[in-house]
Amino acid sequence: LVALVGERFGLDGAGRQPPPVTALELPRPRLEPPAALAPIAASDPWTRAAHAYGKAYRDVVRALAGRIDHPPDVVVTPRSEAEVRDVLDWCAAAGAAVIPYGGGSSVVGGVEPDVGEAYRGAVTLDLGALDRVVEVDEVSLAARIEAGALGPALESQLRARGLTLRHFPQSFECSTIGGWVATRAGGHFATGPTHIDDLVEALRVVTPAGTVQTRRLPASGAGPSPDRLFLGSEGVLGVITEVWVRVRRRPVWRGGGAATFPTFAAGAAAVRALAQSGLQPANCRLVDPLEAAINGAGDGSAAVLLVGFESADAPVDAAVARAGELVQDLGGTIDRAAWAQQAAVARGGRGEKAAQDSGPAGSAPGTAAAGRAPVRGAPEAGGAPSDAAGAWRRSFLRAPYVRDALVRYGVLCETFETAVTWDRFDALHDAVTAAVREALGATGSGAGFVTCRTTHAYPDGVAPYFTVIAPARRGAEVEQWDEVKAAAATAVLAAGGTITHHHAVGRDHRRWYDQQRPELFAGALRAAKVVLDPQGICNPGVLIDPGG
Ligand SMILES: Cc1cc2nc3c(=O)[nH]c(=O)nc-3n(C[C@H](O)[C@H](O)[C@H](O)COP(=O)(O)OP(=O)(O)OC[C@H]3O[C@@H](n4cnc5c(N)ncnc54)[C@H](O)[C@@H]3O)c2cc1C
Repeated sequence: LVALVGERFGLDGAGRQPPPVTALELPRPRLEPPAALAPIAASDPWTRAAHAYGKAYRDVVRALAGRIDHPPDVVVTPRSEAEVRDVLDWCAAAGAAVIPYGGGSSVVGGVEPDVGEAYRGAVTLDLGALDRVVEVDEVSLAARIEAGALGPALESQLRARGLTLRHFPQSFECSTIGGWVATRAGGHFATGPTHIDDLVEALRVVTPAGTVQTRRLPASGAGPSPDRLFLGSEGVLGVITEVWVRVRRRPVWRGGGAATFPTFAAGAAAVRALAQSGLQPANCRLVDPLEAAINGAGDGSAAVLLVGFESADAPVDAAVARAGELVQDLGGTIDRAAWAQQAAVARGGRGEKAAQDSGPAGSAPGTAAAGRAPVRGAPEAGGAPSDAAGAWRRSFLRAPYVRDALVRYGVLCETFETAVTWDRFDALHDAVTAAVREALGATGSGAGFVTCRTTHAYPDGVAPYFTVIAPARRGAEVEQWDEVKAAAATAVLAAGGTITHHHAVGRDHRRWYDQQRPELFAGALRAAKVVLDPQGICNPGVLIDPGG
């Protein structure tokens, strides 16, 4: 890939290595933890550097250059909720900012301790030691999970009971349930319960003002939901320590397939029809021709639609068949034998094995079976290989690692996402694509491209996800990306989209989030922060300004 992209972009082929930790010039820590917290505190350069950034492109390029702009002074790793409380008490007394840290997979500057001069230092509170599934209610199908549990850890604990949370963001391996709740993460369900919001039953949050425990309820009409106040709070209201989530039995029936469309817009019409049909596919992902080709799911001549269904209860072949009809009615080309075979695989009960093995099928639950039992035969038309779904899934899971490798070779490689109602989707797609292309011209050679796929589909709208790949301006990578991003974000808002569908706000999206949210709501959020975090020590700069 490096050779291919390198030739196209005129790169010199020189790969950059991360500097050794000993070469980093970090400022001396400004804070000394009290003796009682010393066993869970670290101020060595490796630990501080490792907690200084999330995983955005601008984080990766700065780290590769040995540039650690805002290292935390101290990193604490509490082993109990009591220690979380002690850390908040210490930070309040010491005038230090505290940054909750889950997996550190933020791509919006959510964990970078860029807190300004008003604080005596910055403490990163790593929840990694709180990683257990504490309790499972098999009657209600719910589980109480500590906030620092990473995706694989919590799934393996639930799997022992035949259960799953089935929330698979692409960052599944390196993000935590507390982080998902704090950022309102989007999982792999393309329709239905797409956001973690829908899976949260109750929360426990330690704030500087005290602990909040919400009531476990399947639903409630008792006023505004306290859970909703903390969902998406991104660490500014306190530290989420435990989450009760709705879990489900592991799916054993699966089916689906791939279709091709002559244009992205034609495929989008099919996504809309599927989302409005009530069929609720678990996967419904449209990939534009270029992105399909880059990921080995097509030859670049057609947009590829991946559709998948799953159930723990009953075969899904009727839904698979109906989706196939619907897709064809709207001009899609499917390999009929492949779709039929998928339905047959589901009916035959081989799904049990597929479900056990599929792991974080981040993109395509219905396609795990396709990957395992690839459908033979050429596609009818349009250039999608019949194992398009399997190819896409494999590529999807590898993508983050490929991204980091490309960056080492001087490639600008980043993604951004939004959501918009269907009536505005085509115009948004065209405007954003044009804005990014223009910005690539203004900030570099103009070489490079922007691709799009849809990640989530709703009856009333869709979440498009853009990928930008271009030659980086070496030495000015951050400035270059910031300009491209600003052009994209401005176009997104002008076209009626949100600054983020699931990546969250962090520090990087503040400018546009401030424009998007109603001013009175901003005031209400500030007031909530004053009550829960009177000294304003929790993740200052994210969502609202330090000091309220
Ligand atoms: C390759 C890649 C793919 C991604 N794919 C997706 C995707 O498919 N869907 C998606 O939604 N996101 C995705 N993301 C973004 C990111 O993974 C999510 O925002 C995720 O929810 C962050 O979880 P985390 O545990 O890593 O949180 P962190 O990055 O550690 O923190 C994120 C924010 O939440 C706060 N926070 C974390 N834990 C707590 C807590 N316990 N209490 C209070 N505040 C807390 C932090 O202070 C910070 O503001 C992706 C990121 C990468 C790098």
